[in-house]
Amino acid sequence: MAIIGGGLSGLSTAAKLHRLDQSIQLVLFESGERLGGVIHTEQVGEYLIDHGADMFSTKPSAAIDFCCELGLEDQLIEPKPEGRGARIVRNGQLVPIPEGFVLMRATQLWPMLFTPLLSLQGKLRFLLERWISPTKGDKDESVSTFVQRRMGHEVLDRIVAPLAAGIYTADVTKLSMQTTMQAIARMEKKHGSLARATAVRRRKGEDSVERGSTGARYGQFRTFQDGMIGLINGIAQSLPDDSIHLNCSVESIRSIGNQWIVTESGTDHKFDHVVVAVPPKAAVNLLEPIAPLASAELAKIESASAAIVVLGVSATNIKRPVNTFGFVVPLSEKRRILAGSFASHKFSGRSPEDHVLIRVFMGGAMQSELLEKSDEELTTIAQEELSELIGLTGDPLVSRVVRWNDAMPQYHIGHGDRVRIIDEEIASTPGLSFTSNALHGVGIAPVIKQADQVAHEVIASLKESGNTSNG
Ligand SMILES: Cc1cc2nc3c(=O)[nH]c(=O)nc-3n(C[C@H](O)[C@H](O)[C@H](O)COP(=O)(O)OP(=O)(O)OC[C@H]3O[C@@H](n4cnc5c(N)ncnc54)[C@H](O)[C@@H]3O)c2cc1C
Repeated sequence: MAIIGGGLSGLSTAAKLHRLDQSIQLVLFESGERLGGVIHTEQVGEYLIDHGADMFSTKPSAAIDFCCELGLEDQLIEPKPEGRGARIVRNGQLVPIPEGFVLMRATQLWPMLFTPLLSLQGKLRFLLERWISPTKGDKDESVSTFVQRRMGHEVLDRIVAPLAAGIYTADVTKLSMQTTMQAIARMEKKHGSLARATAVRRRKGEDSVERGSTGARYGQFRTFQDGMIGLINGIAQSLPDDSIHLNCSVESIRSIGNQWIVTESGTDHKFDHVVVAVPPKAAVNLLEPIAPLASAELAKIESASAAIVVLGVSATNIKRPVNTFGFVVPLSEKRRILAGSFASHKFSGRSPEDHVLIRVFMGGAMQSELLEKSDEELTTIAQEELSELIGLTGDPLVSRVVRWNDAMPQYHIGHGDRVRIIDEEIASTPGLSFTSNALHGVGIAPVIKQADQVAHEVIASLKESGNTSNG
């Protein structure tokens, strides 16, 4: 059995397969010199720097369940209790997100009425939401259309768009409501409005966590003491020693009879089953000869790029410190950064005592031109922006620029239909599977959930073909 790609998708599929049937001979090809793909952690002196993901959600439970399966639960830590929550920049100030506002829905009314983020007009428009009729039918729409239609443009521009951009680095005028905010879209359909849905949930006691949160429900997140690399190392350790092949870029896959020929560095390898777990751009080429429809649809999935400027600074160099996990920046603020995350406020062990580790996000779908700048220029921009927003002075003690090119698949309107075509063609091609964060969710939890599903499908297909000790 070949698994192509040693990011979280490929690794977790491999680990799940190994747990389900240890007789399967796994061969995982990773083109890079390390495992983990966009997940990586670097220790620089006493600073622990996550290059990509810095935490995962316990909902859905796939990721936390997986950690328990791998015996990694002792390594997990929760976000610090103090300072939970995020802020939004408004007129250069870091304004708290109204209490109870989670992603797209206000679970408390009063904080929305008193927030300086919205004008009086914006608040009145928000209050109208209860009386706006839902759209008919199931047609997908953009996050921007949905929020503007229901709550007005101020809630969109000043609250929802920067929060959504923080997760998807996306253009909200293209971001698919059905595939990124499905639960909210369903609430509208079922209850007629988000206000009514919230009232029902409140009566049932279902919003108790959300009501005390701002921006995200931080209590439901976890990370590893040693950074997110802990997950990658834990998965790798669960796999047979000889199964992982680094610096092996797969060039092509073709079928001969019911065998797959995987060509890597000019060498052919024969397998009964192949799991492709590479990002869309790489998958387009690999799948083109063997699943042309899927390949064509994958070619339509755009990916955004981003840079993270990581700065380790002395706490005394921050003249206007804020006790928060981070902040997001609306486009209307005309700044050159998307968000800032105070890694050392979020989790213990990220910086020396009295120092702060800050991750500044730049680029994304909306400011991609910034990524043409050099690392030095990006670092200067990040420092200038932080100087204005939190009064950062002096030079950082540690700085890094991490670039992620084409690393964030964009779930644009119609993404659900695209994924259906991809899934159908792959499912009808015996011995072939495909899993990636480009299909059913970009977060660590949905990626692991999909890997679990793929692993079960592979086992079922191997049983059907009567071949469980597969090479
Ligand atoms: C900056 C950033 C921050 C994030 N933050 C969070 C967060 O805080 N929480 C969260 O839940 N999620 C977060 N995510 C999302 C999450 O980390 C990703 O969705 C997930 O890790 C993607 O895993 P993957 O295996 O699908 O893709 P990748 O990590 O891209 O892995 C694909 C692998 O395939 C390899 N490959 C490509 N082509 C070939 C080939 N031809 N042959 C062999 N190997 C090949 C690549 O080298 C790579 O290792 C973040 C993502 C990014 C980019």
